[in-house]
Amino acid sequence: MIYFDNSATTPIHPEVRDAMWPYLFEIYGNPSSKYYMQADKAKQAVEEARGHVARLLGCEPDEVIFTSGATESNNMVLKGVADQYSSKGNHIVTTKTEHPSILETAKYLENKGYAITYLDVDRYARFDFEQLNQIVTDVASKPILVSVIWGNNEVGSLNDIESIARLCNQHQVFMHTDATQVLGKINVDMTGFGINFLSCSSHKLHGPKGIGATAIKKHRLGFKTKMTPLLHGGEQEGGYRSGTLSVHNIVGFGKAAEIAYRDLRESQVKLTELEGYLVNRLSEEFASSIQFNSDLEAKIPGIVNVRFEGVNNELLLKKLSDHVALSTGSACSSGKPSHVLSSMGISMDGIRSSVRISLSKFNTVEEIDQFLFELKK
Ligand code: PMP
Repeated sequence: MIYFDNSATTPIHPEVRDAMWPYLFEIYGNPSSKYYMQADKAKQAVEEARGHVARLLGCEPDEVIFTSGATESNNMVLKGVADQYSSKGNHIVTTKTEHPSILETAKYLENKGYAITYLDVDRYARFDFEQLNQIVTDVASKPILVSVIWGNNEVGSLNDIESIARLCNQHQVFMHTDATQVLGKINVDMTGFGINFLSCSSHKLHGPKGIGATAIKKHRLGFKTKMTPLLHGGEQEGGYRSGTLSVHNIVGFGKAAEIAYRDLRESQVKLTELEGYLVNRLSEEFASSIQFNSDLEAKIPGIVNVRFEGVNNELLLKKLSDHVALSTGSACSSGKPSHVLSSMGISMDGIRSSVRISLSKFNTVEEIDQFLFELKK
């Protein structure tokens, strides 16, 4: 089976599996326990993993809060900042093409009385920076938080996170980014770019599912930026996220982050080459009957969203399903027509004939050839 649905999730790297194993069966202590070896070793492993995740994100280890994944991290930041800073304002800005874990949280906050602005996007799912600039610089509409996806999970478009963070910093507005799809694929430097909050997930970079992180930059004075926690309890993770740490998952995430950092350049080259080959082959074989929804010039390497004119995407996926795993868009949107493609101005017919092909560094040119062979059939 050829697996081309790596934006939904990725296979676990063998080095990650090997790193996790001992923490399931031998070193099973609770890292918050004290005075015995099992717990100390578990704690050491958690801190080592935290260091690897921090290095990949470009932040300090004590700025990394482990969560159950990016859905939790996105909920945590939006609800936590909204609650913590409600006395300073109730306006939050995001975009129309975020992941459902942002959009549904924003909707929840809207029902609680917060004012949410959803920025429009262009035909490649990039929002209008000028619109954001006007909102942030106008005292009457100045938000408490701007939350913008770094790289879109359906079409791969990248937002200019550095410029957005600079604008928000200048006007003392918190800036959050959902970096779930870009980690291990592009250079991420939270500190250098001036990002306040970042969400990410291990299973998109060949780590285990059910583990991710929220990174929270400290203020210049050294204090952590405040945020009301989602989960109250034993005060793990600096009080930001209570609950016994999932040590084996954290160790797996740490290993995946270590590998992603180590192999970043190599992965970028491989994914860019594979994508170039895929796009050329598709264009050669189906010249007049396909259209690319993704901006092929500036995007996450490895994600291609393409429209097959006159073909129903679900029927196509089912026909191919013995040979190739593909998707019609986000796995988290459970059957609804893509809000991303519709915000980009694509018609319902266009959406129903669009397919997302998402590659990983483990895919090969031979698999692309095989895919094209099956597709032509
Ligand atoms: N944000 C984006 C951009 C995603 O692609 C995903 C996963 N589909 C999530 C958030 C949610 O991540 P998780 O599966 O870790 O909850």
